[in-house]
Amino acid sequence: MKESPEALLRRVFGHAAFRGEQAAIVEHVATGHDALVLMPTGGGKSLCYQLPALLRDGTAIVVSPLIALMQDQVEALRQLGVRAAYLNSSLDAATAQDVERDWQSGNLDLLYVAPERLLTQRFLSMLERSQIALFAIDEAHCVSQWGHDFRPEYRELTVLHERWPGVPRMALTATADPPTQREIAERLELVEARRFASSFDRPNIRYTVTQKENARQQLLAFLQPHTGHAGIVYCLSRRKVDETAAFLVGHGIDAVPYHAGMEAAARAANQRRFLLEDGVVVVATIAFGMGIDKPDVRFVAHMDLPKSIEGYYQETGRAGRDGEPADAWMCHGLGDVVLLRQMIDQSESGDERKRLEHHKLDALVGYCESMRCRRQVLLANFGEEYPDSCGHCDNCLQPPESWDATEAVRKALSCVYRTGQRFGAAHLIDVLRGSDGERIRQFGHDQLAVHGVGADLDARTWRSVFRQVVALGFLEVDTEGYGGLRLGASSRPVLKGEQAVHLRKPPGRRERNRTGTGV
Ligand code: ADP
Ligand code: ZN
Repeated sequence: MKESPEALLRRVFGHAAFRGEQAAIVEHVATGHDALVLMPTGGGKSLCYQLPALLRDGTAIVVSPLIALMQDQVEALRQLGVRAAYLNSSLDAATAQDVERDWQSGNLDLLYVAPERLLTQRFLSMLERSQIALFAIDEAHCVSQWGHDFRPEYRELTVLHERWPGVPRMALTATADPPTQREIAERLELVEARRFASSFDRPNIRYTVTQKENARQQLLAFLQPHTGHAGIVYCLSRRKVDETAAFLVGHGIDAVPYHAGMEAAARAANQRRFLLEDGVVVVATIAFGMGIDKPDVRFVAHMDLPKSIEGYYQETGRAGRDGEPADAWMCHGLGDVVLLRQMIDQSESGDERKRLEHHKLDALVGYCESMRCRRQVLLANFGEEYPDSCGHCDNCLQPPESWDATEAVRKALSCVYRTGQRFGAAHLIDVLRGSDGERIRQFGHDQLAVHGVGADLDARTWRSVFRQVVALGFLEVDTEGYGGLRLGASSRPVLKGEQAVHLRKPPGRRERNRTGTGV
């Protein structure tokens, strides 16, 4: 008789007990059933197919889109004495043949394979000749056309179910808002499969969102209690990655850049340092991180707004996989929103996709401006209710105050209207605060009735007003021109004084307010 799952877990993997739903999933799949596994990053998905692979006869076929991840997993498994291998484009022909021979002679417990490889006639006919323990489809959200990691080959994985209906199949993912979950089930013919949905809450992560003032100094201040910790700093552009990494190095922080524009060898070396050494900070574009399994990442910082809540959650999910306290920190400004909206509209995507991306960005901006517990807002996005406030996000620790901003919002909207609905927030704030700068005079904006009507509020408060007013939809970003602001459809009642607006107060500041004109 074979060993029990618990005994195998201890003997092979050295873990004392199963976590969360692992035991139920392993039992379900090991006894020949299909499963859809939704678990946050770090939740322990790999064991859910690795253990059934050992419990069942034959070879488990693991479909994975990520070469680096396959290599890591196979190496780790081999060190545990498990017979594992991978087949992907990184192998030379001779090595690939060795792997195939091992597999065909029944000497592999797990075989990781890239989807495009799996779909070849050669691979499919070898599958015919082998004994298959199960199929595991990792990163299953890649099947979703609307996700950020869409892989067309994933759509064709239904061949597995059609040709081997008796072999248990499981799909696993960490990125799953409810529509994506449905799409995975439908596209991969897993509607009948049992779903195992773990909570996506990451209780050890503390979420903080702050508004951009002097982003680099703010980053330094955030990093101070993290001296000597490993972490990731995300930036939107490659140039900003390089600049930010250099800035941090200049302040004595062991930071390295990582982006797709770097030479491959330098990039790999930086990734290796991050993984193997202590306390290295990677400054990266979102190209970095998928498949990175480093348990002691103590913080993830976003210097720019991510594209969606799902993306944000996946990126921040790389912090604190070991269960120890970790920080997710983000610094955002209206400029980010304008830039991202322009990027969406200027992309090659179709209209439907653009609408969806705007919608996702709206949800993220809503998260940033929300006065509710961050965790509640994040989890609600994944269709999960979080009953109480978490007590340790920024909004819980320092509940934001609101103020009656009706008058200020009216002035802001009116200023947009009077200047022709084509200027950005910085210029509008100059007008409101009564600047007599050259650009103001050039456009004759010093002659307008709105010129100077907002001198009672400082530029920082105005920026916060504009950000929130855009988040609320009273103003829209014009993405065809230069990203100016124009009135949104819902702005009329506010302009006409029929609707009151309460906004979040900008958090207390350390330096004294600047007075005078300009921003
Ligand atoms: P995911 O793929 O869901 O992001 P992993 O499978 O990589 O997560 O697991 C995350 C970490 O948790 C790994 O370091 C793994 O060894 C560890 N782990 C998984 N299951 C257990 C368990 N039952 N007990 C202890 N550690 C576990
Ligand atoms: Zn909270």
